[in-house]
Amino acid sequence: MQHTAMITSHNPTVAEVDLRAFHENVQNMKKLIHDDCMLMAVIKTNAYGHGVVPIGKEAVRAGADRIGVTAVEEGALLRESGIDVPIHLLGSITFEQAGDVIEYELTPFVASAELAKTMSAEAIKRNITVPLHVKMDTGLHRFGMDPNEMLSFCETCYDLPGICWEGIYTHFSSADEGEWEKTKREYQLFRDTVAELENNGFHFPIKHTAASTITIERPDLHLNMVRPGIALFGYAPALRHRKMVSLKSVMRLRSKLVRVRELPPETPVGYGGSYVTKGREKIAVVPIGLGDGYHLALSNKGQMLVRGQRAGIVGAISLDQTLIDVTHIDGVTEGDEVIIMGRQGEDEILAPQIADWMGSNVDEVLASLMMRVQREYI
Ligand SMILES: *Cc1c(COP(=O)(O)O)cnc(C)c1O
Repeated sequence: MQHTAMITSHNPTVAEVDLRAFHENVQNMKKLIHDDCMLMAVIKTNAYGHGVVPIGKEAVRAGADRIGVTAVEEGALLRESGIDVPIHLLGSITFEQAGDVIEYELTPFVASAELAKTMSAEAIKRNITVPLHVKMDTGLHRFGMDPNEMLSFCETCYDLPGICWEGIYTHFSSADEGEWEKTKREYQLFRDTVAELENNGFHFPIKHTAASTITIERPDLHLNMVRPGIALFGYAPALRHRKMVSLKSVMRLRSKLVRVRELPPETPVGYGGSYVTKGREKIAVVPIGLGDGYHLALSNKGQMLVRGQRAGIVGAISLDQTLIDVTHIDGVTEGDEVIIMGRQGEDEILAPQIADWMGSNVDEVLASLMMRVQREYI
């Protein structure tokens, strides 16, 4: 949300983004790769909720060789902010977007002859050469071309004018789950197909398969570029990764109690009265809700930190407010800081715990945070 210049004090709900932690995470991930391997910082989905432009700039300062996003709009924003490293589009583009992709010098993937021909035609119109990566589907069955179609694709499209085949890649289906047999099969399929193409004279200099998990634990599968995303924001995909790399969570979500009141026993709280006070209870209002990307599934389940102690969410979360039970915490007053995600005192609530309460994953917890929540970069 655009913040009006006339307003001098904003909604107290703020996402602090620790750019130094992000910087260190990028550098620690870089330490895991060999010297001739590049690092693409994947900062899709508004940098997993952290804000694509400030994070993109910091990624480059920290030594990322390339940037990966999904939306053309994100790539365009990064270009307009002055970032000049290659920016990859990891999401699909439509034929209509081909012109914008070229104007903003973005690097899309191609997985069909039709798109390759469109890119070629648009490049010729502008008298330039567009770098492209081919995407192969080895098991995720989302984007990418079938391995057994690759050779005929190359025979048709490799020599199209105006395009340069810079790379080839795949994205594994089950690496985070630690299913190595499956990942090995997918990797082997990728390598075998690439070898077959090379034997036929079709070369793709940059080969890449590794998201966070493979970057962290399988240097033997790095090839010459890795594409970590979530790890850069401080969250390794699996518990086993904690010993392998040092990562710090980048986002802290804080707010203030805007109301504290005592309610008598047996008082229903919130829409539908899904929570009813047992005794005399002190209930506080936190101005964060569904409209901020704080999920309904956290109703009567999640927790927040007040004065270093945990306070449970009571009742249903509404569009803009959440109620918490602070009965057991001494001295609570309106205006007290409340931590929704992050550290306060001795305790800490991190994204994986919120994901557990929601029955979700860390990607969703972070990426859900809406634009209207002010980001504060420190
Ligand atoms: C999202 C994504 C990544 C990064 O994945 P993480 O698990 O967040 O590291 C890498 N490559 C592709 C193609 C992606 O879509």
